[in-house]
Amino acid sequence: MKDYASYSYWLETAGDLTPRPPLDGSIDCDVAILGAGYTGLWTAYYLLRARPGLRVVLLEKEIAGFGASGRNGGWCSSKLNIGLDVLAERHGPEAARAVQRAMYESVDEIGRVCAAERIDADTTKLRRRHRYHPGRRPAVRRARARAARQSGRHTIANHSRH
Ligand SMILES: Cc1cc2nc3c(=O)[nH]c(=O)nc-3n(C[C@H](O)[C@H](O)[C@H](O)COP(=O)(O)OP(=O)(O)OC[C@H]3O[C@@H](n4cnc5c(N)ncnc54)[C@H](O)[C@@H]3O)c2cc1C
Repeated sequence: MKDYASYSYWLETAGDLTPRPPLDGSIDCDVAILGAGYTGLWTAYYLLRARPGLRVVLLEKEIAGFGASGRNGGWCSSKLNIGLDVLAERHGPEAARAVQRAMYESVDEIGRVCAAERIDADTTKLRRRHRYHPGRRPAVRRARARAARQSGRHTIANHSRH
């Protein structure tokens, strides 16, 4: 078994990382989702919120959070990685505004779900920018620095401008 805890601070502090047993045959479901990262887990979460009776199967080849979702900086920002002007030029001003609105809403939604599901993510909402960051503990700062290094950025300050 891989030493999953060595991959990131988040995995190191996540508790038991033993992979669940593999499927040993076919399984019936309404929705099969491949990959237990943010994309797969949020998809499963909202599907089951909308339709609690749905049979959702989430298939992960390693452990939940093994990919980028378990190794990132933990920032949750409404900033787009494309200029609003570029977006408006390509898709029209209303579409650009809608995307920005969705980005604002997603930051608040993450805070809302953490509160509703009692997820102790140690979030802090920054006032100047519309985003959460994962806490001010030294271990979290170290994890952010490691993520910044892995992503090719050299300092936390650079990373936080992202
Ligand atoms: C260094 C770094 C720092 C980052 N910092 C931030 C940040 O601060 N804030 C932010 O919002 N975003 C950040 N990101 C981006 C963010 O982490 C990704 O956009 C996000 O994690 C993507 O999630 P995902 O679920 O799509 O993919 P992943 O998290 O990669 O999940 C994919 C999953 O699918 C599994 N899988 C793959 N193939 C199969 C298969 N055939 N069958 C079953 N399972 C399979 C993998 O094992 C993995 O668990 C960062 C990314 C990196 C790399």
